[in-house]
Amino acid sequence: VAAPTFTGVALDRASLERKDPAWVAAQAEDRRARMVFATRDGVLLAESDPPRLARLPPSGAAPGLLLGLEAGAPLFADMLAADAAPLPGTRIASLRDAGALLAGPEAGLAAFLVALTAYHRHHGFCANCGAPTDLAEAGFARRCRRCGAHHFPRVDPVVIMLVIRGEEVLLGRQPAWPEHRYSALAGFVSPGESIEAAVLREVEEESGVRARDPRFIASQPWPFPASLMLGFHASADGGPAPLPADRELEDVRWFSREAVLAARAEHPAAGWEATDPGSAALLLPPPIAIARYLLDCWLDSPGQPRSSE
Ligand SMILES: [Zn+2]
Repeated sequence: VAAPTFTGVALDRASLERKDPAWVAAQAEDRRARMVFATRDGVLLAESDPPRLARLPPSGAAPGLLLGLEAGAPLFADMLAADAAPLPGTRIASLRDAGALLAGPEAGLAAFLVALTAYHRHHGFCANCGAPTDLAEAGFARRCRRCGAHHFPRVDPVVIMLVIRGEEVLLGRQPAWPEHRYSALAGFVSPGESIEAAVLREVEEESGVRARDPRFIASQPWPFPASLMLGFHASADGGPAPLPADRELEDVRWFSREAVLAARAEHPAAGWEATDPGSAALLLPPPIAIARYLLDCWLDSPGQPRSSE
């Protein structure tokens, strides 16, 4: 099973160097400097094969938001104006589409770009005193003009967990999803809560099932707009039938390994738009979602019956 989508950014974030304004100024002057662009919910792609983010020479005012160094060359980021004319040889893709199109590290770079530009777009004022803030550390912080407080890009931790009971897994569906789509249960970590406790609490709230033994599997940046998905497997024993107690889900139930395998065989690489479950009568989350990764890890784990695919 490959790594989750949006992971594996191949970039030196230059976390220490970027605290030095002189070093940052020198990066902006570097002839190798390139710039990548985000839109409100997407990225600018080059019409290339394989597809990748468009990397253009910086133009106009000195670039301020440095993603990092790519093979030693500075890589800056900027927002594309909503009314900007399309540049020749480029096109805009949503981050979801980019995640499905781009190869591993390039999808990770797209997620990083969208996450960081969205943070700066949404946090122009100080949470401490309300005054305007300015970009600092070449984009890894903001500083308040009045009280001097530093603010850092926020990441919201979300636990997402596949609860396993023998040869069955617990999946639920939200009312807004296409018919037949089910996915792993998930929820935000609360202040003062460990992620392991959040796993067990969310499972009980959303299904009434008492889970145990949360096991961390993998994480995934999910900048829609600022989540970090923390993927777990957990176990459960017998008990009453699952019930969507907190009404976030409209249905939650156990699915057999055979049912999940059949659904995956029906749509090995379906995107968000898939609506026809075929004979499987179950639509799995698409491959860019870590929920699918958690399912694939379960289906393909050593010591378990292997998929026939
Ligand atoms: Zn302030």
